[in-house]
Amino acid sequence: MVSNLINALRQSIVDGLTDRSLTSCSRWAANRRVMGEPFPGPYSWTYHPWVREMHDSGASFNYAMKSAQAGVTEVAINRALYVLDRLRRDVLYVLPTALNASDFSKARFATALALSPKLAEIFTDTNTINLKQAGANTLYIRGSRGDSNLKSIPVSELFLDEVDEMDQKQIWLALERLSGQVHKHVWGISTPTIPNYGIHKLFLTSTQEHFVFKCPCCSRWTEFVWPDCVEIIGEHVADVRCHESFLKCKECKHRLVHESKPDWLATGIWHATAKNANPDIRGFYINQLYSFTVTPGELVAAYFRGFGDELANKEFHNSKLGVPFIGDGAKVTDEDLQACIRNHTKDDPRPEIGGQRIITMGVDQGKWSYVEICEWFFDRYSQDLNVAAMAKVLWEGKFYEDEWDQRLDELMREWQVLACVIDADPWPMEARRFAKRFPGYVWLCRYRRGVTAKEISITDDDDGAPLATVDRTNWLSASLGRFRQPRRIILPRDVSHEYLEHLKAPVRTYEREKKDAKKDQQAKSGGNVVATFVSTGPDHFAHARTYAEIALPLVAARETNQDIKSFL
Ligand SMILES: [Zn+2]
Repeated sequence: MVSNLINALRQSIVDGLTDRSLTSCSRWAANRRVMGEPFPGPYSWTYHPWVREMHDSGASFNYAMKSAQAGVTEVAINRALYVLDRLRRDVLYVLPTALNASDFSKARFATALALSPKLAEIFTDTNTINLKQAGANTLYIRGSRGDSNLKSIPVSELFLDEVDEMDQKQIWLALERLSGQVHKHVWGISTPTIPNYGIHKLFLTSTQEHFVFKCPCCSRWTEFVWPDCVEIIGEHVADVRCHESFLKCKECKHRLVHESKPDWLATGIWHATAKNANPDIRGFYINQLYSFTVTPGELVAAYFRGFGDELANKEFHNSKLGVPFIGDGAKVTDEDLQACIRNHTKDDPRPEIGGQRIITMGVDQGKWSYVEICEWFFDRYSQDLNVAAMAKVLWEGKFYEDEWDQRLDELMREWQVLACVIDADPWPMEARRFAKRFPGYVWLCRYRRGVTAKEISITDDDDGAPLATVDRTNWLSASLGRFRQPRRIILPRDVSHEYLEHLKAPVRTYEREKKDAKKDQQAKSGGNVVATFVSTGPDHFAHARTYAEIALPLVAARETNQDIKSFL
């Protein structure tokens, strides 16, 4: 009995000593966290040594652009728990969706506590899924999408996990709010998707650090880059020789043995590549050439899989190399736009009243409303009217909200517009009033999923104005695709710089289909992949363009009194 008591006392003294020495997050993690598979036991960075220094970064902003399975999410989790336990501050941990947040809470978080008894002790209440209490401090776990108002949660410690999947507006609002605070600590981590978007955009503002190590053969400091550091063996994805591929030092070309990575990567360090960057904004980049769990052969197989398969190629770049990727033709380029500019101007004579010209108008409304006015010419046969037609942009421009009522009416008359499609939001009442002033000539529009192909479903909304519901991706593809070969649109020579910039903003990428509550299981088991457009900047004119495009079959259906389906 007495010996038990003494042992318990001794243990509590040891614990207390360890406790006081856990002043760095990395030491804290090694002492407090216990991991499950694939590396069971006390938390260690043996197999991903680059994470050690990341734990202890004192920078206010930290952005990790990473390949899949780089051990970086664990850094964020450790850091969040360390802040709660040692620094005694509230923490906001953000995931892309509310569903991701509750899954994270149940799986990652609950597992961490179940495996690490010393961690479980710090939490006084873990029953609420999105809110965990650690004494006086709170861990908030939230999704970025929907109405989760991140701005309203008062924390100085912010974690953004999978930045590229998040509602980008919410992120910028959250970061903006923090920028005014003296004390702040932000972690943004993600595999990148497209250039100048999400994590890549954040990374570009940072020190842009790469993990460098001393080559065990030539002792020079070097790093792993694709393809210089991989001897590619085999010729296609099914070639068994792929697995004979190996890593090599790009300085001395000697083979580096994958299995011995923990030996020579252990002394690696982070090296800033953006020399003039603010050291308070650190960026960390890591790719799968460093991984202990992914073999060089697997990398080479993934590389071959990307041949002739845009999605697989994107996966290879994003998830394996940890770099952003843009597919061929995924966006409108400067070259495309310049090739479409012709000699007409926005000041050319206006159409005569009651003439025969087919002119449509698209309006993307908001504080500023953006307008495109477009004329159509039929120079080829196709059942699909938009494919049969060549587009000539007659005019584009914008007006401020105080001109709302007056300016749209003027444009309708000035250009003898046969059909106008206007974004139903953010002001449906105003749009409806406008539609009622031009009965039969104006349609409100909403993008929606679940509408297939270029289908336009038309309903009278509650207040009697016609509402067209369309699939966003397909119509953006159709309207922006005109700028690519064989170029089916022409622009006036005085087209605004802003119009051109907006047209370049949407980029086609891919995402796992978001359908129902089973989404995450699907994503993990490789659910349906669908194309989608994300925006790398303001894109209002791209939407005005798309609405002008949607207006064309609406004209045809009305003038011929036929079902709109026969023109799509
Ligand atoms: Zn070497």
